[in-house]
Amino acid sequence: MPNDQGRRWRRGGLYRWRAWGGSALFALALILLILLLVLKPSRPSYGKPWLEFSGEKALAHVQALVDLGPRPPQSAAIKNARSYIRKNLEESGWQVEEQAFNDDTPRGKVSFVNLIARRPNESRDAKYFLLCSHYDTKTFDSIQFIGANDGGSSTGALLEMARVLSLHPKLAARIELVFFDGEEAYEGFSATDGLYGSRYFAQQIKETKTRNNYRGGILWDMMGDRDLTITLAPDSPAEMTRNIFSAAVALNARTHFTYASNDILDDHSPINRIGIPTIDLIDFDYPPWHTADDTMDKLSAESLQTIGAVTAYYLAEMAFR
Ligand SMILES: [Zn+2]
Repeated sequence: MPNDQGRRWRRGGLYRWRAWGGSALFALALILLILLLVLKPSRPSYGKPWLEFSGEKALAHVQALVDLGPRPPQSAAIKNARSYIRKNLEESGWQVEEQAFNDDTPRGKVSFVNLIARRPNESRDAKYFLLCSHYDTKTFDSIQFIGANDGGSSTGALLEMARVLSLHPKLAARIELVFFDGEEAYEGFSATDGLYGSRYFAQQIKETKTRNNYRGGILWDMMGDRDLTITLAPDSPAEMTRNIFSAAVALNARTHFTYASNDILDDHSPINRIGIPTIDLIDFDYPPWHTADDTMDKLSAESLQTIGAVTAYYLAEMAFR
């Protein structure tokens, strides 16, 4: 009998010790977890901006730009395009800087103006990500070239992206929107013809030693074709390419993305050259390219929506990881 009682006591003692030890371990784990949550900088959530991007709104901007007529550098029409872009950016709370410069071209000295938009008064705790488009149209003497897709589509879409980002201030604070002038060459792309705006923009970053302010960039160009296939060039930054494909998969848009067989010279090239990884989202398979047939009827709101949404998904979910 006493033995039994002793055994019971011992059992009870062991049980109580286990219970006490268990809750102490549990408390310790809880404290560690709280410390981890407090100390580890959590990735901020940027919401779901890809659900808000409207292809219809983007297309309405493209129409407004095309209605201004051909928009070659220095023209009255490109000046009007600039006012239109600036007005829309300011309406959604962006601060716009005009980066004006002159450059020698095969047609003599030409003045160009890049537009750079940032959020005012937002404290920025991380590097900027660039979102770019060119807003000039190619100079032609023989045809009326209005550049609905080439110059129009990406610019209209970037204005819609500006509106969407303004609804997500934390994300917008980390984005710089750039509208390049003078993307088009007068004769043919060379070290001194074409890419005037992006070459100047990159040169300024180099001269002011501000390259480390930037994490990367996306360039949009010719993204409105009804028959949309974005052709990613072999020189695209590898990690960004993988992530763009993943974003496309997530939004069921994978069939609109493929690889280009050749490198593409575009406004992303000078930016890449100074060490800011930048990818060109361009649909180069566009028969009316650089003809009078690059008109609104070739575009669809759906194509603008697809690229707008994939880019917004990439920015919110991947660009700042
Ligand atoms: Zn062009």
